Amino acid sequence: MLAYKHNFSPHRYFLWNNKDIRFKNKSLFFRNWFENKIILVGQLLNEDGYLLSYGEFIYKFKIPITPKEYAIVFDAIPRGVVSLLNSSVVDVSNIDLHENIIIGNINIKDKCSNKQIRNIVCDTTIPSARFFWSNIYGDIQWGNAWKIANKYCISNKVKEVSFKMLHRIYPVKHVLERFKLNIDYKCDFCGMEKETILHLFFACIYSRMFWIDIKNFVTKEIGPVVLFNGFDIMIYFRNSDIDKDVVYLITFHIHKCKWSNLKPNFFHFINEVYVKQL
Ligand SMILES: [Zn+2]
Repeated sequence: MLAYKHNFSPHRYFLWNNKDIRFKNKSLFFRNWFENKIILVGQLLNEDGYLLSYGEFIYKFKIPITPKEYAIVFDAIPRGVVSLLNSSVVDVSNIDLHENIIIGNINIKDKCSNKQIRNIVCDTTIPSARFFWSNIYGDIQWGNAWKIANKYCISNKVKEVSFKMLHRIYPVKHVLERFKLNIDYKCDFCGMEKETILHLFFACIYSRMFWIDIKNFVTKEIGPVVLFNGFDIMIYFRNSDIDKDVVYLITFHIHKCKWSNLKPNFFHFINEVYVKQL
């Protein structure tokens, strides 16, 4: 076991507001990284103990970070710290935040739960997300929408997708456009339309075909004709005939397909759900 001078421990070596991790003489804080639970330097190492390449970073965290932002953070990390971290495994789910960490004007001490992070996200995204969805779907009972993702027995990973869709922070290419990257901004599935959240999960021809397959399956197995429209998918599911968890599992499947360069596929989906229940 390593002994650390000056009480240094890799398990609480923070990226943000750290006096040793600076760009243009200022310590860093990137909200979008933090909101995606990137908090410690140790999370930025690959299995071999080296700093992640840009490609590895995008693959691991699946969030829209520009190469410039990547370079700012990774260049600022002292190389000595990396070699110290090499021998330590950092598990962010078990970290204990003993030191002060300032997020915006919030000082998170002792414990930083998912709920706290979620609340920070909610504070900033609720007004604009409400406005956006109300513009499309009119009157919405927001009480139902905000509670819905916590109501059913589905895993955090699955919930996360619905939560990000509802809050419009899901990393579709449309949100990357403002960074003016030299990439193709068209939908990963069809390659034709602009990749917005609504397009990717609902309007895209590939997603639509997938939803139709699901609808046919549910209708055949259960009886009533179940329609999945944009509102049910994006905001909350209003049909009481089938288990509501299924909508979250379906959007999760679409999400997984996007990030593994596959198209949504009914048989793969059924297989996943079935295998999961074994
Ligand atoms: Zn498309």
